[in-house]
Parts: sequence; C-alpha cells; structure tokens
Amino acid sequence: MPADAPITQDVLTIPRKDVPGDGRMNLVGLTRDGLRAALIEAGTPEKQAKMRVNQIWQWMYHWGVRDFAAMTNLSKDYRALLDRTFVIAMPEVVSRQISDDGTRKYLVRIAGGHEVETVYIPEEDRGTLCISSQVGCTLTCSFCHTGTQKLVRNLTPAEIVGQIMVARDDLGVWPEPGVGSGETGPRLLSNIVLMGMGEPLYNFEAVRDAMKIAMDGEGIALSRRRITLSTSGVVPEIARTAEEIGCMLAVSFHATTDEVRDKLVPINKRWPIAELLDALRDYPKASNSERITFEYVMLKGVNDSDEDARRLIQLIKGIPAKINLIPFNEWPGAPYERSDWSRIKAFADIIYKAGYASPIRTPRGEDIMAACGQLKSATERARKSRAQIQAEAGL
Ligand code: SAH
Ligand code: SF4
Repeated sequence: MPADAPITQDVLTIPRKDVPGDGRMNLVGLTRDGLRAALIEAGTPEKQAKMRVNQIWQWMYHWGVRDFAAMTNLSKDYRALLDRTFVIAMPEVVSRQISDDGTRKYLVRIAGGHEVETVYIPEEDRGTLCISSQVGCTLTCSFCHTGTQKLVRNLTPAEIVGQIMVARDDLGVWPEPGVGSGETGPRLLSNIVLMGMGEPLYNFEAVRDAMKIAMDGEGIALSRRRITLSTSGVVPEIARTAEEIGCMLAVSFHATTDEVRDKLVPINKRWPIAELLDALRDYPKASNSERITFEYVMLKGVNDSDEDARRLIQLIKGIPAKINLIPFNEWPGAPYERSDWSRIKAFADIIYKAGYASPIRTPRGEDIMAACGQLKSATERARKSRAQIQAEAGL
C-alpha cells in the first residue's frame, strides 16, 4: 500500500433479517430492546413484552434451548406463534479440529457461504474462546495471515454470539433443564478474546451488541473483565469501547517507532503511535479496568532489539499495562521469522525489570494452524500473492 493511501473499509454488509432458510427472523443476536420490538411486532401484547423477553432470553442464553416447543413456561399457542415467526439459528460448524494440546479449532459457516474460524483454548483453571468479528480483515498487517485474505464482510451480532453458543454446544456446558445449574468448579468456557479474524472496532455495533449479550447476567453471564477486545489501533473507537462495552482492551502495538509500525500495522499511517497512546491513556479509567494489554509480536531482526524494549517502556510510561510477547507464528509465504527464544527472553527481562508483567504467549494449536495470526478460511480463494504481501510490507 502506498504510504499515503487511505485505509478504507471495503466491507460487504448483509441485511439484519438475513436468516438461513425460510425467511423467519433469527432471534439470536438481538439486544433486549430489539427482542422486545420483534415480539411486539409479532403480536405480543406490550404489557407482556418485558416478561416474554426475560423468559425467551433465559431459554436461549441460559439453557441453550433452540426449539420454541421446549419453552414450557409459555403457552402452547404462544410457542406456536413464535415458531411461525422466528428461529433460533446458529452458524453451522463445518469442521472441528483438535490439537495435540487440546486446542479446538472450529470452522464455522455463515450466511453467504463464508467461513470464519473460532478457537477454544483450554487451560488448567479456565478456558478461553477466541472469536472472529469479520470474514477476513480490511487491514493488511504484514505479519498476519488473516490480513492476506481479500474478501471481507462484517459478521452480524448473531454470528458473533453464535460462535460462543456453538462452542458451548460442543463443550457440553449448557445446564440441563430441571437438573441444576450445570457446571461446578472452574467454567470450561470462562473467557472470551476478540482476537480471531477481523478488526473488531471496524464492526463496532455488532461486536458491542454481541458482547452485551455475552455479559448479560441472565444468560451466558461472562463478566466484562473476562472479555478482551484486541484492536490494531482504531483510535476514534477506543473511547467508545470504554463507554459502550467496558471490556478489557488489548492493543496490537508491535513496534516502537512509527517507521517500523507503519510497515507492520499499516493503520499506524492513519493513527500514529502518539495518537494511539493518548487514546489508550484514558481507557483504564474510562472503562474502570485495571490495565491495558500491549501485544507485541516478536519478529527476528525487525522489532526485537534491547533498544526496542527500552523504547517501549518509555512510550507506555504512565499507562497501567501488561506486555504480552507473542512469538511470531509462521504461515505459508510469511515474510518474517520468529525471534530466537533467547532474544525473546532478553526482551521480556528488560520489560519485567522496568516493573511490567511481560508474559510470553505460548503458541497453542500450531499443529492445526489455530495459533494467533494463522487464521484464514481454507476455502477462501481470493489470496494475495507472496510478492504482494512483501510489497505491502515494504520489503
Ligand atoms: N485485528 C485485531 C484482532 C485480531 S489479531 C488486532 O489486530 O488486534 C490477534 C493478535 O494476533 C494481534 O495482536 C495480532 O497482531 C496477532 N498476530 C497476527 N498475526 C500473527 C502471527 N502471525 N503471529 C503472532 N501473532 C500474530
Ligand atoms: Fe487485521 Fe488484526 Fe490481522 Fe492486522 S493483525 S490484519 S488488524 S486481523
């Protein structure tokens, strides 16, 4: 991309009512207000609407029920009306791969035949689901596999929250009606990271609505502290994220000079490091979250020197932060190499000694191409060539 080229959002949109099959409207992904409006439009008396929203919400998001007939606290006639008008539809899981380390990668098909990837990462005391917000990504970070996928469309709230629901199906964590609240002990699916395909802040409203559903106490009920949204640095949407979502924030920082960051994360040409840091400085207070995670991919000879580590510390001074070092994950045609282990350790050490947590992210699910930055729909044919990737990286 030429240095002065504007970064545009070339994103296809689909109508909100798009539903697989027969034209009935999908209730998944509607906010509480949206659900209320839909129920009233279908003939629910206004006086009853709030109660019906609560009941249906709990069936969908607490119990994981998909069939209106099973909603036994609703009258038979009302259930039939719901069934004629609505569906509770999930994206379709096309394939599931399980890594040697237990990581699960789901290939999920959404309307229009597009595919996105969702990754479940089990840990000892928790389990994290990495979800996608777009098919592909309009941004072209030169080290990221997703960025090489040309075709992009925004996911709907239903498709975003649907990824959580299909993972819950697969993990068997919905409580069984009448048997109790389901899981005891640590939750199998306890955390969400918006670190899959796409730039979540280029699909703000859908991501916000989906996360509101995930956080709602009468359903999936994840605390906002267990949801982390990762952005490449869409500065104007950062304050809005604090205000309207209030989840934890991670930022794909990856470089300590504008010159290098322009190449790695081209959105930097639009919102350079200084502007990004200004927006980040206000985030913890505005969102009442403890600290920001700075993600830093370790690329051999590109951004991994001691000088970089020291510059990074200077830059983030005053921002409550944790620095997450990500060993570069290779993909076919990638124009970079992973830094040596000793280099990553030395870099981490400098940051740690300056008083910041500096965990090194263990690559998970590499054998099934499920690690950070490796996601890309295998069936997506609109690929960029290696030459194009290198030209855009300024190599
Ligand atoms: N678009 C968002 C979220 C998705 S990427 C963002 O860029 O923040 C999730 C994280 O994986 C980001 O920090 C991204 O920079 C990192 N990443 C991308 N490609 C990678 C690769 N090949 N190896 C390691 N990390 C990568
Ligand atoms: Fe998009 Fe994030 Fe990949 Fe950059 S790193 S191309 S913003 S998914």
